[in-house]
Amino acid sequence: MIVINVSEELKTEQVKVDWLDYWRHFSMIKNNFCSEVNCLNSQDYGALVKKFDDKGLYVLPLCKKHSDNMLKQIEISDTTEIISAEFTL
Ligand SMILES: [Zn+2]
Repeated sequence: MIVINVSEELKTEQVKVDWLDYWRHFSMIKNNFCSEVNCLNSQDYGALVKKFDDKGLYVLPLCKKHSDNMLKQIEISDTTEIISAEFTL
């Protein structure tokens, strides 16, 4: 699945870590891998993404490399759990 990274507004490291905590709080799948389809690095940050067919904002985990290398589009594994950003902790 291709998603669009919209994390530019996440300026600080703390905000990205907070989104990773958010994802981990709601995720059912307890793995520790980056969401990028071919990546086996561990998760460092949360990212905000959109899907093409949906206006909603979603959260998924990325490694530092994929988080810093802010490609607009990112291909994620179909088994990745993406969590709506609209829940409250
Ligand atoms: Zn990665």
